Amino acid sequence: MNVTRPLIVGGAVGSLLLAGCSADTSSADADASEASLSVGASFYPLQYVAEAVGGDDVAVTSLIAAGVEPHDAEMSPATVRSMQDMDTVLFLSDFSAAVDDAVDTTGARSLDAHHIVDEHGEEEAEHEDETHEDDEYASEDGHDHGTLDPHFWLDPTLLAEYAEDVVAEFSELDPDNAASYEERGNALIADLDALDQSFTDGLATCERREIFVSHEAYGYLGLRYDLAQEGMSGLDPEAEPSPARIREIRDLIEDSGATTIYTESKVSAAVAESLADDAGVTTAVLDPLETIADGDDYIAVMTRNLEELRTGLDCS
Ligand SMILES: [Zn+2]
Repeated sequence: MNVTRPLIVGGAVGSLLLAGCSADTSSADADASEASLSVGASFYPLQYVAEAVGGDDVAVTSLIAAGVEPHDAEMSPATVRSMQDMDTVLFLSDFSAAVDDAVDTTGARSLDAHHIVDEHGEEEAEHEDETHEDDEYASEDGHDHGTLDPHFWLDPTLLAEYAEDVVAEFSELDPDNAASYEERGNALIADLDALDQSFTDGLATCERREIFVSHEAYGYLGLRYDLAQEGMSGLDPEAEPSPARIREIRDLIEDSGATTIYTESKVSAAVAESLADDAGVTTAVLDPLETIADGDDYIAVMTRNLEELRTGLDCS
């Protein structure tokens, strides 16, 4: 077992140091006057790509307040009004109803990431089905196959696909800076490819390949790196697991020899904590990156996720 701790410790220290800062991660106020484009991003991974590709040429505004879980987020009327002045709005339809409504109502130009879900979601659903053949209760707890899993950004290669969309969108709106968007996009894609390689290598040889999670956000990640997720609350983190599902998860944990239940920072971990106590296992944080803390970014959080997976699954 090769456990790398410094990254986790570094992250914890970072959030302590920054705990007193404002939670506003929007960069719209940073040199907005010099930016060529004004862009809205509906939640963190889309914002991350917009900022990485846009650099100083784009002022990015987060449409949902920092720290708010985007599945059920609301938007302030002021933010909705401001969308009319944005050059484009980056969003994922069927994920945050408030943003879908705001895009409709304002008629703002928008780029919908949903085609990535359309392209890869069926394959992800099949992978989920294959890994849940024996689950009696899973279908009652959020495996609603009428809705494709939205969480594509947890596979770095799919976020790289999305980066290409953003390069094309910015270049069309602002052809003078197209070369810069292309260059920064390529740098981002190279970072995401390197992250993908770390996951492939880091999860190649593990004692177990089953992950027990509170929020079923890891379907695409599981498809890419051959992991099977068992979720308590389904695709929507707010959904309460049924007592039958909790008993089933308990049995699955015992059968699999799992040592860890993964919870997430932004959502109450109470059910997972008590289940872990009951089953005699520990909890660890796996972050679905739907929001971000000050001082963190996609690559840093995904790198911590990888270390938590390697520890929890006893990877060599
Ligand atoms: Zn989610």
